[in-house]
Amino acid sequence: MQIIQVGDEVRRYVWSIRATGKTVGIVPTMGALHDGHLSLVRNSVQRCDHTIVTIFVNPTQFGPGEDLKKYPRTFDADCAAVKDAGASLVFAPTAIEMYPPGFSTFVEPPDIALPLEGEFRPGHFRGVTTVVMKLFQLSPATHAFFGSKDFQQLKVIQAIVNDLNVGIEIVPCDIIREPDGLALSSRNRYLSPKDRLIARSLSNALSIAQSQFDQGERDVKTIETQMRKALADVTKIDYAAIVDADTLLPIQKIDHLAHVLIAAHVGTTRLIDNRPLKT
Ligand code: AMP
Repeated sequence: MQIIQVGDEVRRYVWSIRATGKTVGIVPTMGALHDGHLSLVRNSVQRCDHTIVTIFVNPTQFGPGEDLKKYPRTFDADCAAVKDAGASLVFAPTAIEMYPPGFSTFVEPPDIALPLEGEFRPGHFRGVTTVVMKLFQLSPATHAFFGSKDFQQLKVIQAIVNDLNVGIEIVPCDIIREPDGLALSSRNRYLSPKDRLIARSLSNALSIAQSQFDQGERDVKTIETQMRKALADVTKIDYAAIVDADTLLPIQKIDHLAHVLIAAHVGTTRLIDNRPLKT
């Protein structure tokens, strides 16, 4: 498995593969890889002839006061894990390679970036859309693999690819969870043992929403109240919301496809989770 830091080299690598008619999957990550990331890699290895994993802690998607500086960095272990999972190449650009002096062009995120994370992390999706478009240019893959763990991010990427006619197939991948339901996240390692127990309440609250729905409840406020009760022990709830699954905008009654999303702080760690409401 190769490791490349320079954008032009990775572009040449991808085009040399594509020139032979083969497919290339890209898995964008910020490193500190866990089995959730590796499931994306395995999906890509299964589906594509070659798989590139990008590892870049993107400064433009972190707000002031967020955890950019302390974001976990485990590069050597990451490379070993993706090699094992069957990736052909790791692209790990430096911040200066991605954002050289004078850099000033950003990709304006679509409307679906406005609610939820858009409200609580202003500027976050502008950093995400910009870095993802840059990665797609540097590594012109045929397929890109994104986790449903970051459901709004997945929708944002699907929207920019659609709106800007980007020739890449976005492949959504399932959320990988701990046995007790907690969605795997690079940030879970920040949780103290006590907070780790409290963190289970996010996936519990999602299950409560589903079981209320299964019992016939269709009023969004009623279900959201039950979800907040299940989240009583978290430090702060940013949102615990049932929204339209296509637009992510608020709804009052569940009479079409809906999605449940939660963002909550447990101690000093901010966690997100989500699930579709299955009929
Ligand atoms: P990150 O390194 O947090 O930027 O995540 C990189 C990719 O891994 C994104 O597409 C995430 O949605 C995906 N991902 C993170 N956690 C999980 C998980 N528990 N299950 C599936 N995909 C995940």
